[in-house]
Amino acid sequence: MGFNSGLDMERSYYAATASPAPHHAPLIGEVDADLVVVGGGCTGLSAALHAAERGLKVVLLEGGRIGWGASGRNGGQMIVGLRKGPLELVALYGRERAKALFDLAFSAWGLVLEMIERHAIDCDLRKTGHLVCAVSDGDAAWFEREVECLATVMDYPHARMLSATDALDAVASPYKGAFFDALGGHMHPLNYTLGLARAAVEAGVTIHEGTPALRLDRRGGIRVETPQGAVRARHAVLAGDALLAGIDKRVESRIMPIGNYIVATEPLADAAEIIPSNAAVSDSRFVVNYYRLSADGRLLFGGGERYTPRPPADIQAFVRPHMEQTFPQLKGRRIDYAWGGLVSVTTSRFPHVGRDGEVYFAHGYSGMGVILSTLAGKLLVEAMSGETSRFALFEGLNPMPFPGGSALRGPLYVLGMLWYAMRDRLKH
Ligand SMILES: Cc1cc2nc3c(=O)[nH]c(=O)nc-3n(C[C@H](O)[C@H](O)[C@H](O)COP(=O)(O)OP(=O)(O)OC[C@H]3O[C@@H](n4cnc5c(N)ncnc54)[C@H](O)[C@@H]3O)c2cc1C
Repeated sequence: MGFNSGLDMERSYYAATASPAPHHAPLIGEVDADLVVVGGGCTGLSAALHAAERGLKVVLLEGGRIGWGASGRNGGQMIVGLRKGPLELVALYGRERAKALFDLAFSAWGLVLEMIERHAIDCDLRKTGHLVCAVSDGDAAWFEREVECLATVMDYPHARMLSATDALDAVASPYKGAFFDALGGHMHPLNYTLGLARAAVEAGVTIHEGTPALRLDRRGGIRVETPQGAVRARHAVLAGDALLAGIDKRVESRIMPIGNYIVATEPLADAAEIIPSNAAVSDSRFVVNYYRLSADGRLLFGGGERYTPRPPADIQAFVRPHMEQTFPQLKGRRIDYAWGGLVSVTTSRFPHVGRDGEVYFAHGYSGMGVILSTLAGKLLVEAMSGETSRFALFEGLNPMPFPGGSALRGPLYVLGMLWYAMRDRLKH
């Protein structure tokens, strides 16, 4: 099932520590359903589960293996909010709408905790908070204002600013200060995704792995074609994120897949000295470094992006310098796992959530999808059932397509990203 197994997923820490999961047979033949879902990551599984709980007959098609897209190979960092912080939200939308958007995004945290508890998902959940470390004085000053905005405009008292000294107590790398959100944390994302799949099946969802959707036909009702069959349905959810291709050009032109790479060290005897807070950590670089400890004391470090479709020949060698620059004390430590994935970003960094008739879609969480994807899947089902108020908030974000649509988006975007990455290097 090579569809979503690229970038060394089979050599990832997550694949090596995955909970046992059943194999779901490919679709053979033509079937009817109320809802057909394309994509077996957290967006698709959440939509399927919530729809089945409302009594819909659901068939979910996954081209490769459940969870082997971004949902099962990411940093596992559970971060409250959207990729754009509260100050930018207020500047763009005014206080009232910004708060409504923030509140909705924040609700993803509670929803994911509820899913984990209600469905007894064993996924190494750590509610240890999230740190964003400032690499420049300017970034630290910006974070101070964000904390204030969160408290006064968003009525969110959980964030605070750490001085450079306090930040050093939380993570053993020197920064100019840090934004600390006491909510958030981290988890084993593949085991969470597999847990959602189990819950979906228990709720009555039929899952087919190894079943790529090849074509979506809307004439005379929705019909999704697969290599050996088809699903006819009243509603469809497109939840293929970065891997969705050739199904709906308009939807696909809103996202850009960017290769992003992670390593996991050997278990570290000094893990608690590396990140004493055990928080999920990212830094304020444009090409962000993000890291956290695993349940067995490894450092999972993501860093470096490539704006070409070609992955680095040696992922470990590509990421290691970023890790050793952040933690010189880890120079030469063994790296046991290295893999990559495709982060899908939008032009505005807001998710692209919407509908076109009875075809619903949600994707492009721009590096913030670990908890937002579960929420987005649920919002699609709410909209399908006529409850549109929460869905409409995200739908209204409506990011612009990439210039040139899906064909030209690559080259133009690469130029822009390289410029930002270069500017980032000048910060130091
Ligand atoms: C390396 C990496 C690190 C990340 N780190 C973080 C992080 O720490 N915190 C955070 O919040 N976010 C992070 N993200 C982002 C987050 O993982 C994603 O936003 C989120 O998982 C998207 O979920 P999804 O269900 O929409 O997509 P996916 O999980 O990618 O699922 C889509 C599925 O659809 C399937 N599919 C696609 N097309 C078809 C088709 N035609 N037919 C059938 N199936 C199809 C794919 O095979 C795939 O399994 C990271 C992403 C990556 C890649």
